Amino acid sequence: MTRLHVDVLVLGAGFGGSLLSAVLAKNGKRVAVVDRGVHPRFAIGESSTPLADAILKQIATRYGLQELLPLTQYGSWKRCYSQLRCGVKTGFSYFGHRAGAAFVPRDQLLVAASNSAMKSDTHWLRSDVDLFLCEYAAKQGASIVQGADYFLSGFNEGWCVEGSAEGREFAFVSEFIVDATGGAGEVLRHLGVAENSDALKTNSTALFAHFDGVPTVAATLAERGVDLQPHPFNCDAAAVHHVLEDGWMWQLRFDDDTVSAGILVNGDSCTAIRQSEKSLQAVWDDRLKPYAFVASQFTNASVVRPQSGLQQTGRLQRICERAAGNNWAALANAAGFVDPLHSTGIAHTMSCVQRLAAILLNEAAKPRTESLRRYSDDLLSEIRLVDEMVEGCYAALPGFRLWSDWCMLYFAAVTSAEQSPVGNEPTSFLRASDSRFRSMLAEARQRLQRVIDLDRDERAISGFEEWLRAAIGPWNHVGLMDDSVNGMYRSTAAPDR
Ligand SMILES: Cc1cc2nc3c(=O)[nH]c(=O)nc-3n(C[C@H](O)[C@H](O)[C@H](O)COP(=O)(O)OP(=O)(O)OC[C@H]3O[C@@H](n4cnc5c(N)ncnc54)[C@H](O)[C@@H]3O)c2cc1C
Repeated sequence: MTRLHVDVLVLGAGFGGSLLSAVLAKNGKRVAVVDRGVHPRFAIGESSTPLADAILKQIATRYGLQELLPLTQYGSWKRCYSQLRCGVKTGFSYFGHRAGAAFVPRDQLLVAASNSAMKSDTHWLRSDVDLFLCEYAAKQGASIVQGADYFLSGFNEGWCVEGSAEGREFAFVSEFIVDATGGAGEVLRHLGVAENSDALKTNSTALFAHFDGVPTVAATLAERGVDLQPHPFNCDAAAVHHVLEDGWMWQLRFDDDTVSAGILVNGDSCTAIRQSEKSLQAVWDDRLKPYAFVASQFTNASVVRPQSGLQQTGRLQRICERAAGNNWAALANAAGFVDPLHSTGIAHTMSCVQRLAAILLNEAAKPRTESLRRYSDDLLSEIRLVDEMVEGCYAALPGFRLWSDWCMLYFAAVTSAEQSPVGNEPTSFLRASDSRFRSMLAEARQRLQRVIDLDRDERAISGFEEWLRAAIGPWNHVGLMDDSVNGMYRSTAAPDR
């Protein structure tokens, strides 16, 4: 069969692979995308952030993909693409729970991410959004093959992907390949790139699905007589985190009132879950039982997606030793992953798409050896940074106060990145290349450990908080760690985009 020559081969047509392909195809590259699966299909990882939306806006503006601009805010999304299901995300909500104890109103933290619902971020129903972006890439001229059974070969002189889909054969050759296959890491495996996951400190496992019949947090709080007036935004129009004793639960509400929900467990509890012989539903129920608040939300809930029901992962954390070479590169989710906490996945993938597009469209900067080496080093360093920001939260458990304190490090990193002037040149993700921030984070972790070793003594916690307030000062432009707001942060959003 005739082999079609393209400039870039992309393996994986998730939103990352499709978006990169759309950029490249729109800007004159011949692109082929090959996916083993077929859209629409269930995918987890729905909660977008201001950083993700800001980067998408930069990509769409710089590379002439105006049709994607409405997806960067909830209001324009609903106006222009009402057929793509989503939910509104105005901020991050956290609620602390103690096993066997009633909910205490003090254990709330709400951090605004947008100044109004219409200008806010979104939860993406990934089956809809990923299909849309895949079709969009095709409209820009990318050749898309779904449901592919294929064979990948070569790497020095170039790459070849040949196989069949829906009874038709195909063959593509290219000098460059992008691994956008997420956890499958198809190109990485082909190249024998080693995993280095033991170097990651977080050790968590997830159990998740989309549910119907989950009452809102606001209604559940109101039932318990909790005053909602102090909330700076509707606490359900957010990435909701229920902080438990050895993990946490996310809840992301879509406009049709279905909810993406997942339980994350950490450390030793993971082993119990991974080795449990009970049904996943029984494991789910067991996890919720000690927490009356959350358990009550799921009393009448039923799984609506995926069709196969509740899903359980193994250890979520993974990182490879290299994320790019002379003629290949991996997107974030192929190179590694840490945890859904802090919703970094979509933004990180956007950031990789932005950087790879700049590298691959710059013909004058060939050979790309140096830029790809930098891309790889930066990406791996960023995954390690996310690991440090997530691991500290788990280490802080049980206890809402220390968990919330550690979250402030993430908010300092992300809000300082969001508040920076938006330039055209892609920069490293969060504060990964900021050595002062990295040193401060490392010191914070040592100090957190001292507090833990002192059995979370009240004076030790207060001393840690005082130090942390000063330490995040250079990155804290939004009033984080202000005791007078009682965990209700309404001025943390960047100025309207
Ligand atoms: C439990 C969980 C919760 C998460 N929650 C969030 C969140 O709230 N917010 C957030 O920002 N991020 C979240 N993430 C991360 C998010 O899921 C990823 O960042 C995102 O899916 C990356 O998109 P992608 O297109 O790069 O990869 P994927 O979505 O993984 O897509 C990979 C594509 O490759 C295809 N494929 C797989 N194997 C092959 C193969 N061998 N050959 C060809 N094609 C292949 C698949 O069919 C798929 O289409 C979460 C992740 C997990 C695990």
